[in-house]
Amino acid sequence: MLGENQLGCSTTVAAWSQSPQESWTHQNPVVTPCGFDSLPGLEALHSDGCALNFCSNCGSPVVSKIPAGDHLPRFVCTNCGVIHYKNPLLVLGCVPQWEDKILLCRRAIEPRLGFWTVPAGFMENGETMQNAAARECREEAMAEVAIGSLLAVVNVTHAYQVHVMFRARLLAPEFGAGSESLEVGLYTEAQIPWPDLAFPSGEFTLRKFFADRAAGREDYHFTELTRPLRS
Ligand code: ZN
Repeated sequence: MLGENQLGCSTTVAAWSQSPQESWTHQNPVVTPCGFDSLPGLEALHSDGCALNFCSNCGSPVVSKIPAGDHLPRFVCTNCGVIHYKNPLLVLGCVPQWEDKILLCRRAIEPRLGFWTVPAGFMENGETMQNAAARECREEAMAEVAIGSLLAVVNVTHAYQVHVMFRARLLAPEFGAGSESLEVGLYTEAQIPWPDLAFPSGEFTLRKFFADRAAGREDYHFTELTRPLRS
């Protein structure tokens, strides 16, 4: 799920952050400027929750300062010295396909309650990206999928998130509204409720999905959303 209380950032303590970050590269990514500035919604995911007042290690107040050897301000505990890093969250989703239709969910929760989305939500610790995408589909649409090729990577930089979307195949035309969905259904391309999609990353994903499908290919696509949109 994309929870209303889930912040667009994650906190790790210093001890967890010493291993090198794995970088994600490819020789020929398809990079596309995103043109969805007029669509509202994403800043609801953003939240101002990246503030931190107290240390989760010892409960003492933290201060914001640049640690020695670092180059960005961090929340540092005034008592135990633990550095609380804030790093982006991964959101995983998929476009489940059955015959010529795809599965969409109408959201039963904020943000963007009542609007439509592909099944997607925050990755949990210990999951692979594919497992996270399949789990979100199970939770939101009560549907089992086989996750396929990588479809879209949306850098939602203002919300401190990266949305990663896969193609997927429904194992059976069986689905239902999970607790986070008002309704779930299979729709042809012509039936997609474009003006009522919940998130620009979802619209980007679906437009690339249908364009690739029409062209008989399975490319993957990068884009960036750099600023909050009107709610
Ligand atoms: Zn502390």
